[in-house]
Amino acid sequence: MAPPPPAALLAALEADATLDAAGPFLRMATEHYATTRSGDGSVSTTVDRGTIAARFDEPLPTGMRPLVDVAARLAREVVADANHLTHPMYLGHQVSAPIAAAVWSEVVIAALNNSMAVWEMSPTTTPLEERVIGWMTQLVGWGPAAAGTMTSGGTEATFTALLAARAAWKPDAWERGWGNGPAPVVLCGAHAHYAVQRAVGAMGLGTAHCLKVPSDGFRMSPTALAAMLDELAAAGRPVLAVVATAGQTATGAFDDLEVIGTLCAARGLWLHVDGAHGASALLSATHRSRVRGIHLARSVAWDPHKMMLLPLSAGMVLVRDARDLSAAFAQQAPYLFHGGVAEAHPDLGTRSFQCSRRADVVKLWVTLQRLGADGVGALYDHLCGLAQALHDRLAAAPDRFEVLHTPESNILCFRVHGSDAENLRIREAFNRSGRGWITTTVLDGRRVLRVTVMNPRTGPAHLEALVQGLAQLAESPAGAGA
Ligand SMILES: *Cc1c(COP(=O)(O)O)cnc(C)c1O
Repeated sequence: MAPPPPAALLAALEADATLDAAGPFLRMATEHYATTRSGDGSVSTTVDRGTIAARFDEPLPTGMRPLVDVAARLAREVVADANHLTHPMYLGHQVSAPIAAAVWSEVVIAALNNSMAVWEMSPTTTPLEERVIGWMTQLVGWGPAAAGTMTSGGTEATFTALLAARAAWKPDAWERGWGNGPAPVVLCGAHAHYAVQRAVGAMGLGTAHCLKVPSDGFRMSPTALAAMLDELAAAGRPVLAVVATAGQTATGAFDDLEVIGTLCAARGLWLHVDGAHGASALLSATHRSRVRGIHLARSVAWDPHKMMLLPLSAGMVLVRDARDLSAAFAQQAPYLFHGGVAEAHPDLGTRSFQCSRRADVVKLWVTLQRLGADGVGALYDHLCGLAQALHDRLAAAPDRFEVLHTPESNILCFRVHGSDAENLRIREAFNRSGRGWITTTVLDGRRVLRVTVMNPRTGPAHLEALVQGLAQLAESPAGAGA
């Protein structure tokens, strides 16, 4: 096929830039919300992996096609068989049923395409990010010296925080590496997210230097932490950072930040709080107490794309002292501070692992403008309330179910009586039925079922449907419930 003439290409670009041309894409999204609203359709596809892969198995397209045709194919071949996170029976991973106002903001973020690397490339969104980050650091309980940056998520946030801790521990590490002295260790809870190990490995520290502090229940044991710190001190082994978790992945439990923070402060240690999931409790009047002491941290990871229900991606790393973040990526802070206030035109790229960076702050700002922090906090409460209701419902059926903990957020782990294999089978059969979607994990060596309520459209009736669905499958060992 001959390449299209440039005039035709340029005309196509202009034709695609109209509201009419955008129509099919916006309709795809609004219809996705509309069709999942009732909860009638299936949550996930029943089409097998190979069949889906075969749909896309074609040579690289080299010519042009009408946009409406491309949109129609997207709707038919991608959207239809995607996981429907806005379906009220989606109770799976910690990915939100995204708030529509934030979704529409995505279009504007992309159309503007102002990169956050340098202030002159993003004259409105750089100050906007500074304002929003300022709100978040105030919520943490920090003063005007605090700062932060949006990240791709919690993994990048924790990586950045540990790089900042490294710069504080060894200011010339950026140039000279770890050096020849004894390697420092990072301590985290036994149930910490793999992001911690990943950061330790990526920094070249070696994952053998990431030590797990035993849990007490599902929280980091402060007693065990103190004992480990005593031992390390006696052995002359330096500590780079302690990482506590607010909202653990498996159970949604919160480490005691007040006790751990006080302990770290007394020893002059860097405390990083991985609040990717649970720092959003700061927005909730009811749940704020779970992160009491978070201000004692020197850095915090917080994902608005989790419990603030933003679409991927929107993460944040926050630091108590702006200089720590600048130091993370350079031996010397690249800009000067005057009385704790950054100079007039900061380039946020100095604080970030990323160079070109989306203005994800726009969707966070739009969400806060639309719902208010109290609105987002009330949604947090709503989701946690549902997990508690599910807990109570399952606990009332002890002949069938075993609940494994009281929910501290919107996550609940439980088991159907029977073997690990039986629990796995029930999960697979339930998800395959299209009637709902849950996850599974291993807790204390046992296979468990796990529910995460990330969708404000979920209600008590949906939880009842889940309980009934699982109970039916437990009764039919052939898995014929679908
Ligand atoms: C989700 C999560 C992470 C990872 O964050 P991403 O945004 O997926 O990179 C890290 N820690 C905790 C506790 C999490 O819940």
